[in-house]
Amino acid sequence: MSKGTMDLQARMQRLTDWLLGTEPAMRIRMGMAWFAVLMMALCIVVVLMLVHAGFGRKDWAWWWALCASGGLVAVLALIRSGWSRRLQDPSMTQWQIRYALLCNAAAYVLLGQARGVTPVILSLVLMFGIFGMTARQLAANMAYALLVFGAALATVAMLDEPGRSPALEAAHGAMIVLVLMGSTFIAIRLQHIRRRLTQQKHQLSQALERISHLATHDELTGLVNRRHMAELIRMELQRCERAGRPLVLAILDLDHFKSINDSEGHAVGDQVLQAFARTVQATVRNTDMLARWGGEEFVLMLYDSDAASALGLLERVRAKVQAMELPFDGRSVRVTVSMGVALSRPGEPLERLLERADVALYEAKSQGRNRVVLQDEATPGV
Ligand code: GH3
Ligand code: MG
Ligand code: MG
Repeated sequence: MSKGTMDLQARMQRLTDWLLGTEPAMRIRMGMAWFAVLMMALCIVVVLMLVHAGFGRKDWAWWWALCASGGLVAVLALIRSGWSRRLQDPSMTQWQIRYALLCNAAAYVLLGQARGVTPVILSLVLMFGIFGMTARQLAANMAYALLVFGAALATVAMLDEPGRSPALEAAHGAMIVLVLMGSTFIAIRLQHIRRRLTQQKHQLSQALERISHLATHDELTGLVNRRHMAELIRMELQRCERAGRPLVLAILDLDHFKSINDSEGHAVGDQVLQAFARTVQATVRNTDMLARWGGEEFVLMLYDSDAASALGLLERVRAKVQAMELPFDGRSVRVTVSMGVALSRPGEPLERLLERADVALYEAKSQGRNRVVLQDEATPGV
């Protein structure tokens, strides 16, 4: 890019910053205000051209143009200076619309036989209020417009200019009422559509939340599922590696669970799984993560833990599970759990870490179950 182009770009940037401001909300407000000003300025030019062509009252037209453009500049200045921030509507849309309606009604009086352009300008002004207004604001604007245009029609009747046509004035009055009713109707329809869209967006985001919960959680126990847990462990493994400390991972497997299913039924087995999940979660810290790995097998990831404190905690978990009493039909079902624990090694993939925890679990089972075994170099099979 040449230096000249860069200079021009920088200058343009400075100019737009000066015109619109740098803060995003201000830029939107000012962009809209400038657009409204441009539209109104063009309308002023049209009115002046008509007056120049011999329609209406030249003596009033210049004063009118001065007041109309003065009001526009004042609104721009109030927004750009930040003064309008203290208002409920900092973009001053309502003020601009009311002022434009007043100027338009005044133009109706001074334009003589060319006053037929004002209903067209009126519809343009009302378009600015279509999107953001409440029903109450719309009704207030409609009443205000009826009032100022009613006054304008009455003034024209009173002035009784030469060549005046009551039929034409009645037609203008009817057009003004039509434009007002039409724009209010469209605005109310738009509001209805917007409300429905907002509702649908809300429902969609709720559905998305539910789907993502279903995709990452186990239905029976409400715990994180295997897929999501694997992601969490991989992330934590990377964090531990950067911090230069090991990650503690335990596999928890209920003992002789098949016999509970066989003797008590599958439904009772399900409730035992739920009670087990609740007990473990109530014993570990909030930051530790328990997942249902599959069947009656769970994986527990302990944050910021070392071998000694992990073994202490898991021993407490084991004792709590053993102490669990689940009453079913007057009988009480009891369950125990075996655990294999492993500490990650630098650069070790998740699969290998799980394999070592599984070897320790196998060892816990073969030593008689209901115990915690830490995998170390001495554990057979590794
Ligand atoms: P071990 O002490 O060696 O672990 O014996 P076990 O009986 O617990 O192990 P095994 O792998 O033989 O049996 C696991 C049982 O868990 C078999 C299966 O029917 C049961 N199971 C798996 N998922 C569910 C479940 O969602 N609900 C219920 N009720 N039972 C389940
Ligand atoms: Mg088991
Ligand atoms: Mg098992």
